Amino acid sequence: MERSSSTERFQPLTSGTSGQGIEVAPDLYCFTVQIVNVIFYGLPGEGNKWVLIDAGMPKSAERIKEEAEKRFGQGNPPQAIILTHAHFDHIGALIDLLEVWDVPVYAQELELPYLTGQKNYPEPDTSVEGGMVAKLSFLFPHESIDIGTKVHPLSIDHTVPFMPDWKWIHTPGHTEGHISLFRNEDHAMIVGDAFVTVKQDSLYKVFTQEKEIGGPPRYLTPDWGMAEESVQILAALHPHIAITGHGVPVDGQWLHENLDRLASDFQSIAVPDHGKFVDGSE
Ligand SMILES: [Zn+2]
Repeated sequence: MERSSSTERFQPLTSGTSGQGIEVAPDLYCFTVQIVNVIFYGLPGEGNKWVLIDAGMPKSAERIKEEAEKRFGQGNPPQAIILTHAHFDHIGALIDLLEVWDVPVYAQELELPYLTGQKNYPEPDTSVEGGMVAKLSFLFPHESIDIGTKVHPLSIDHTVPFMPDWKWIHTPGHTEGHISLFRNEDHAMIVGDAFVTVKQDSLYKVFTQEKEIGGPPRYLTPDWGMAEESVQILAALHPHIAITGHGVPVDGQWLHENLDRLASDFQSIAVPDHGKFVDGSE
């Protein structure tokens, strides 16, 4: 990935990067839908096989499908949809997409209850420090969806269906069954919300997508101890490229320095001083 392309393409104050894509490797395309990224894995070309990672915001199925058609041709659904976790902004278009694409969905086993209507996430912590997004987070749906038998657990051998060179890594904290994906060959990493590259709790920064490393979104992370361990596991793998669920893809020295800093200084960078997921305060 060219460093310049990632900054030049993301012009501030155009309501973020919605509807723009960036190719971080020949077979890895990060497409931004409003405030969240979905990833297309596979070499572009008519009829080529591909996999979708995460399923974006509610009502974004058309956008995702159009972009997929541009990249892989019409009538060419993905082989599977892999989910990093099942928060509403990562599965928003899932039900609509499954209506047109009859494909399997994979998630970590602990995430399945949130995809089969058995369990809801905790309500977001609107009291957590950190500005407008936290304050607005009461609007975010936390109820689970039910896609029934369409969803399958990822294999315990850590292989990823239809992504032969990749492994999934359990990175809980933000959710119980949160995963990241890692390819050893080029140290590319897809991290969901294990860490982000935009300050999620600043509405201004969400809109401008100003690049800044942070832990998982504060208003919706119930286990900070596990979230810290997860970041340390990811940092120890020395990724060269990282695609986060929120913010721009990052690489090289910037990623190396900032991820190390986040791993060693997680408490002060990522964890809120107080809030219902930290000390039970409201
Ligand atoms: Zn999330």
